[in-house]
Amino acid sequence: METIEGLNKYIVRDKLILKIFTIGYEPMGESIIILIIVDGVVKFSAVIDCFKTTEINKTLDILQEYNVEKVNFICITHPDVDHCKGFEKILEKANNKTVILYPVYMINDLNYDKDAKIVIDKLSEFVMKRKNDPDKPILKSCVGSCLAPINFIFENEKNGYKYPLIINTYSPVSEIIERPNAYNYLIEEFKRTNSHNNFSIMLSLTLGDFKSLFCGDIQNDSIDIVKRDLNMNDMDFFINTIDFFKIPHHCSWGSKNMLNLLSNCFIANSVTTIYNRGKSKLPNKEMLKKYIKKSEKTYCTSNIENEKENIYKYGIVELTANIFERTIRIEDKKYDEVEVM
Ligand SMILES: [Zn+2]
Repeated sequence: METIEGLNKYIVRDKLILKIFTIGYEPMGESIIILIIVDGVVKFSAVIDCFKTTEINKTLDILQEYNVEKVNFICITHPDVDHCKGFEKILEKANNKTVILYPVYMINDLNYDKDAKIVIDKLSEFVMKRKNDPDKPILKSCVGSCLAPINFIFENEKNGYKYPLIINTYSPVSEIIERPNAYNYLIEEFKRTNSHNNFSIMLSLTLGDFKSLFCGDIQNDSIDIVKRDLNMNDMDFFINTIDFFKIPHHCSWGSKNMLNLLSNCFIANSVTTIYNRGKSKLPNKEMLKKYIKKSEKTYCTSNIENEKENIYKYGIVELTANIFERTIRIEDKKYDEVEVM
């Protein structure tokens, strides 16, 4: 029956579980892990961004805890250090079937923090190796709005219902091809702010009825470009309910146009990570209020009420969705101390 080449089809006897871990560090750092668990065994894993402190790399710890040796999907939303420090360890968990997404301009850009440079070099090395792979490697740079080449489908053994996994990516980089002036504008912005936020990849993940959206650090200029470029399939995603939404750029005012993009949908759960560094104290409280209004429930990986005294070292918002039963549970954990093993 399996006629599509490279299709990963799993029959589920009892439980199809989707887990999303959103990790946020103090004073900066963000990582997301997505796992699909079939009857207790992880069958699909994805990592969006990574960070480590001198003591911990929670992304790696969680993958280890769930015995994930090979990651199926990797996305570096943008090469700013708070999203890619320690990613070289995640790239070690990629093989020639792993789909890797990164902004197309990334490898040629030289303006990097040294921790980001380590990741870029490792990624360049990996890309070179894969280019000569006789196994026809799946490797994709993100241009405009496009489907990631992920072929996973899950079937309920009891009733035969099928649950395809769909990952769609949105990137303003299509401007390079279609509207060079806009691309130049983004480059000028980059020179001014020295940040790659405007190139950040955004992606949606759908499994059965469950819908989630991860926004990296995308900001207003790019959000407007993405909005303008949406096709009918994308529109379909941006109406009704989004079950889980990672607020863009640690909930900054500079990404407020996201609320226009989401104007037709309802958000069940939204989450933001902190960026409490230098002049940037994020989430912006006014902005956070807007998301709280728009979402049934909003989570934050740190305590933002008492900024000085009660900031946690890191926090994890862990979502568990039972896809057949259509239930979602969220645990919000915060850690003061570094764990001693
Ligand atoms: Zn960031």
